[in-house]
Amino acid sequence: MTQPHAEPLAATAPAVEANRFPLQQHYIDGAFRPSVAGGTFTTANPANGVVLAEASDGRAEDVDAAVAAARRAFDEGPWPRLSAEKRAAVLRRIAELIRVHADEFVEREVCDIGMPIAQMKRLAGRAAMNFEYYAGVVPELHGRAFQVGDEFLNYTIRKPVGVAGMIMPWNAPLMLSTWRIAPALAAGNTVVLKPAEWSPLTATLLAEVMAEAELPDGVFNVVQGFGETAGAPLSAHPGVDLLCFTGETSTGKLVIAAGAPTLKRSSVELGGKSPVVVFDDADPELAVDAAVAQIFTMNGQRCTAGSRLLVQRGLYDQVVEAVAERARNIRVGDPFDTRTELGPLIGPEHHERVLGYVQSARDEGARVLAGGNRPESLPDGCFLEATVIADVNEHMKVFQEEIFGPVLVAMPFDDEADAVRLANATPYGLAAYVWTNDIQRGHRVAHAIDTGMCWINSQNVRDLRTPFGGVKASGIGREGGDYAFDFYCELEIVHVALGTHRIPRLGLGDPD
Ligand code: NAD
Repeated sequence: MTQPHAEPLAATAPAVEANRFPLQQHYIDGAFRPSVAGGTFTTANPANGVVLAEASDGRAEDVDAAVAAARRAFDEGPWPRLSAEKRAAVLRRIAELIRVHADEFVEREVCDIGMPIAQMKRLAGRAAMNFEYYAGVVPELHGRAFQVGDEFLNYTIRKPVGVAGMIMPWNAPLMLSTWRIAPALAAGNTVVLKPAEWSPLTATLLAEVMAEAELPDGVFNVVQGFGETAGAPLSAHPGVDLLCFTGETSTGKLVIAAGAPTLKRSSVELGGKSPVVVFDDADPELAVDAAVAQIFTMNGQRCTAGSRLLVQRGLYDQVVEAVAERARNIRVGDPFDTRTELGPLIGPEHHERVLGYVQSARDEGARVLAGGNRPESLPDGCFLEATVIADVNEHMKVFQEEIFGPVLVAMPFDDEADAVRLANATPYGLAAYVWTNDIQRGHRVAHAIDTGMCWINSQNVRDLRTPFGGVKASGIGREGGDYAFDFYCELEIVHVALGTHRIPRLGLGDPD
């Protein structure tokens, strides 16, 4: 499996000039506007630190305006009252327009977050598919009917809930936000989106698309800004009914707590530390391909990254060395270069944080088999080599905590029970990947791992109909497919009497 080492790519391309984009304003009630207080912040290219744009710094008063617009659109506007087919037609238009503007979405996100362009093109396609998929599902949504003898017919109806506040992360903003926005709108809700402060650029373009698709004013709103000053007031806002949060576990707890006094329904997709479990009888080539892809795509900043490689002792050295060899060959560099496999981390603080994890592993006696440093050819920007750390143990920080970078930790296991114990030995439970040619063991282990999602002999391939979500510290709730409608719809039961039935007669006085 040894290959010649990849040529290092050039440093960062000068393609995206400073202040490439205009002020990224809020989008409220169908119009772009600055913050009431006039403040702005900047977003920079993580590949070279160049400032890309200023964005309006949203505060409580901007959140108030956006929620008021979404509230009006829900309480009085046409959107929740349209037939499902008519809503579906608008969603299809949004999908088409995302495709029309795909190059702009890709350019914005590649320079905002450093996602390699080849991977970003696929994610932009997924964003369009999110709308197309829910356009297809929503007319199919139906309730259940319960016949109760000859006396009653009971049936359920689904209704939109109201205003959805969406607080999103920076790691794949377009794909992750559309994954929530599409079912929310399909069900007839209205939305206020707060993108992450590190990645404001595609939300603005998405707002333009919504306007072009003639989504009624106020149905989709964007407030740019920081977590503490825009996210917190949105989470606590009495006019918000639903809270959709994707981000770190610690922030998710704050968001749920902020929504509790007004009894908001929340769906939180949080961090992960997902195991890749490789048994002796697995196909090692496939397992290596998948292990490498699972940790190093999306710059390692992926919630479902397979960040812990657990390999049965007989295959451990072979698999871990093969993964390390591939990591040494990963092409790190300019995210606009179509050959790039690994771009920069999101920002300098995160870069420092991830390097700190690598150092902690060294200090605790693990072996850094590949990477672990900034590539010599890339002195600027937030670049890090693809990193493989072997011989960790379950007590180390790098085993327990989500690093959210291109860092894979590996350790051996002895038998099935040991594999399951180690797989379950972190607070997280988002995804798991099991490699074995023993089909019974594959199912047994998949069932025994505490996880929201498990793949057997497969990399992370998702079908939009399937449920997505985590257990333990990885989240609460499931979205995806029509599971999303359990969150984005109220379920009402209507009880109908079909004829006369016995009704207790009170208040008739003393029968004597
Ligand atoms: P983060 O928690 O720092 O920020 C997420 C969002 O929350 C941002 O918009 C931020 O501004 C906002 N925020 C911060 N403090 C807030 C507060 N007090 N009140 C309200 N909002 C606040 O997360 P991140 O660094 O942007 O994203 C990375 C994390 O997201 C990782 O842990 C990753 O695993 C997780 N993630 C999970 C999934 C999933 O589906 N489970 C998907 C992608 C990312």
